[in-house]
Amino acid sequence: MWLSSKVRNGDGLVMECPICKLANACLAGTPNVSSCWCMNKQFDEWVLSQIPEQYKHKACICEACYVKYSEMLQKPQR
Ligand SMILES: [Zn+2]
Ligand SMILES: [Zn+2]
Repeated sequence: MWLSSKVRNGDGLVMECPICKLANACLAGTPNVSSCWCMNKQFDEWVLSQIPEQYKHKACICEACYVKYSEMLQKPQR
């Protein structure tokens, strides 16, 4: 469980993307949450639904995933 070992809620320095598990400098869950990049982004509902319930409002997905899914959603799926 990455949550127990790597994420130290409160200092916001070590966070992982809930989807790709790569380092993600999300500030959700810290006093600086309002300056996190994700606060300026609109996440599609489908993207949000990919985040496991226990990580919601704790960490945003990383910017790479955000870009990846945004592009995916713009193209019709075949
Ligand atoms: Zn990611
Ligand atoms: Zn964030």
